[in-house]
Amino acid sequence: MNLKISALEYIDQVKNGQISAEEFVSATIDRIKKIDGKLHAFLQINPDAVEQARKVDKKIKLGEKVGACFGMPISIKDNICIKNSKTTCASKMLENFIAPYDATVISKLKQQDAIFVGKVNMDEFAMGLTTEFSAYGPSKNPWNTDYVPGGSSGGSAVSVSAFECVASLGSDTGGSVRNPASFCSTVGYKPTYGLISRYGLISYANSIEQIGPMTRTVKDTAFLLNILCGLDTNDNTTIDNGNQDYLSEIDSGIEGKKIGIIQEMIGEGIDSQVLSATKDAISKLEGLGAICDNVSIDMVKYSVASYYTITATEAGSNLARYDNIRYGYEFPVEGYEFNSYISKVRSKFGPEVIRRMILGGFVPSAGHAGKYFLKALKVKSKLTKEVNQAFKKYDFLIAPTVPVLPFKIGEKINDPVALFLVDINTVMSNLSGTPSISIPYAISNGLPIGMQLLAKHRDDKSLLQAARALETTVQLPEVPI
Ligand code: GLN
Repeated sequence: MNLKISALEYIDQVKNGQISAEEFVSATIDRIKKIDGKLHAFLQINPDAVEQARKVDKKIKLGEKVGACFGMPISIKDNICIKNSKTTCASKMLENFIAPYDATVISKLKQQDAIFVGKVNMDEFAMGLTTEFSAYGPSKNPWNTDYVPGGSSGGSAVSVSAFECVASLGSDTGGSVRNPASFCSTVGYKPTYGLISRYGLISYANSIEQIGPMTRTVKDTAFLLNILCGLDTNDNTTIDNGNQDYLSEIDSGIEGKKIGIIQEMIGEGIDSQVLSATKDAISKLEGLGAICDNVSIDMVKYSVASYYTITATEAGSNLARYDNIRYGYEFPVEGYEFNSYISKVRSKFGPEVIRRMILGGFVPSAGHAGKYFLKALKVKSKLTKEVNQAFKKYDFLIAPTVPVLPFKIGEKINDPVALFLVDINTVMSNLSGTPSISIPYAISNGLPIGMQLLAKHRDDKSLLQAARALETTVQLPEVPI
């Protein structure tokens, strides 16, 4: 069974009767069992996946109505709720938490007959960019298992890249879909804020985060967006996208489109291989008829500081609910007064989450808010203005997704500031609410480099067309696993 096919190829092959959902899903589960010991993408495997695939086959055989996914195996980041299954956020705090309801994205995929092969690893509560902050141990990069796969949706990227599923859902607060997509050579999409419902996504910094698809091709992402988007009464930040079809006209090309190269994202600190891949991408885009020139977005220099101030503040408030009353774990509470009780409860969190919660308690507090939190919000609004201004002149912006190549597991784990700086190219679209995509672009010394394209608010459809155009110029070797 060839598992190395795209989502759309899978659907075609099932429709034509070349393969059955059961065969494909069971081969997928076998592969996970065979190789995931080396990669650790999965936290749980769905024991009913093959049975569910058999039911899809039965519907096909009986000529009943079948959903658009035709039993396609998808992995789900472990901060997205699937009813009656564990949702741990890769934290010991939620070790035994069984979700009582389906996230909206899960209901939508179920309606379309997708099959969830399992829940995948992540940095605890989505805080991080290497998947090393998972309380259950790191995931490994399938291109070289000594290296980090990126994060926080590392398990999602690994599972797609290593053919342990056809597609995955991750979440992106400051790059968590695009960063691992770049490090593992998959497509990763951060939609316009509000395009996909967050209902059932366990919040980290809800004012800027989005669920996003991770796939092998841009067309597969467009296909999934068609399923995932839409207004949701359970998430009042969702927007009406007018039922756009993201797949139609995807091959429209980028002839005559204007593309701005973000200078602040290709300057100091960029790896030379990443820079040369970026220059190469620019000349390919020009070859396709796009007009590229330099653009400066001055506020990028403050974006990481602003991002971490805002997200820590939201995390401090979002994670306050883990007080061991509504969620938590058993321990004898006798003898604790309030402060020592809370400290005891919170000691279940890993070091990164604790760091963010302490920061998140401090930066918005009385006497400090003006200096930190409010200033960070000002940067956010100035940055958004600059981004909107840039999109008056350009259809798209371009920058490498991550300024550096994947690094070794353990290399930066004790240096949080060095880790924070790796986010410099991804946080801008979260802070400004605009869409962005990372596509596999190059392999340098056996390690992937992803290229990022960005578009204005609600311009998701044209962004996918541009990404598709660039994707047609790329030919990459197969993952060595
Ligand atoms: N690295 C960023 C952080 O730790 C991004 C995480 C994310 O997008 N969830 O906050």
